[in-house]
Amino acid sequence: MGKYSSKINKIRTFALSLIFIGFIIMYIGIFFRNAPLVMTFFMLLGLLSIIASTVVYFWIGMLSTKTVQVVCPNCQKTTKVLGRVDMCMYCNEPLTLDPSLTGKEFDEKYNRKNSKKADM
Ligand SMILES: [Zn+2]
Repeated sequence: MGKYSSKINKIRTFALSLIFIGFIIMYIGIFFRNAPLVMTFFMLLGLLSIIASTVVYFWIGMLSTKTVQVVCPNCQKTTKVLGRVDMCMYCNEPLTLDPSLTGKEFDEKYNRKNSKKADM
């Protein structure tokens, strides 16, 4: 447990870290005040990172419309399931929408194997 987290949460963490990375890159750029070209490069790179983060946040919004709301059998909270198997957002309980997988060990590969079926 704890090794996996809900996919939406993972993507959200990724988007958040992109913002931080963007600001760090821009901050590094300040050290190159005497070299405007280098500074501009860092500023643009940082800006790109922040733009990418916005795109990822937008993507999360798109994904959220495709999730299925279920009540977690473990913590009784309403959580979102993305794909065939996902984790509870609150307690990381493995959840599946596919009855044939119930009881099997949680494996993120179940999602990849069926990604072509567009059941995301
Ligand atoms: Zn739960």
